[in-house]
Parts: sequence; structure tokens; C-alpha cells
Amino acid sequence: MARRKGDAARARAQQAAEPLGSISQPLGPAVPGTAACLRCGETQMTRIRMALTSGRQVLFVSCPACEQRNWFPLDGNGTPLPRDEVMGADE
Ligand SMILES: [Zn+2]
Repeated sequence: MARRKGDAARARAQQAAEPLGSISQPLGPAVPGTAACLRCGETQMTRIRMALTSGRQVLFVSCPACEQRNWFPLDGNGTPLPRDEVMGADE
């Protein structure tokens, strides 16, 4: 019976579709302070998740309009990190 094999494939496809459909934000929950540029308000910014030398998880935000760059801690309150901390005071 070819029909039985087809049903199994269809059921497998439905199972795979559910978890895939729930992934809509590759970066996870939005980080406070990164919705728009602090200087000019641009919203189409480059956002890159990265880890500092201290091991702290941050979101690097670069504005293409005014070249403002900031680093926001993922668990922060919307205040960008001071440049000293970003560049690593590991010595
Ligand atoms: Zn800007």
C-alpha cells in the first residue's frame, strides 16, 4: 500500500512545521535601547549580538545614517555601555 507511506510523510511534515513557524526573532527578545538610534532616531540599524572580552553578552548597534555606535547589555535597561568597558579592561 503506497498510501500508508504517504500519510507518514505528511504527518512528519506537519510536526516539523510547527517549531519552525515559532522562530520569528533570531536575536531573541528585543534589547532595551536598540529600537532606534540614540542620536538621530534611525530604526534601520545594524544589530550584531556578540560577547565582550569580559564574557558579557551584548548587542552591538551601528547606525548607517549618523555612524553612531553603541553596545547594549542583553540584560540591561537601555543604557549603552561605556566605551571603556566595551574595549576591554582585561589587563
Ligand atoms: Zn543615527
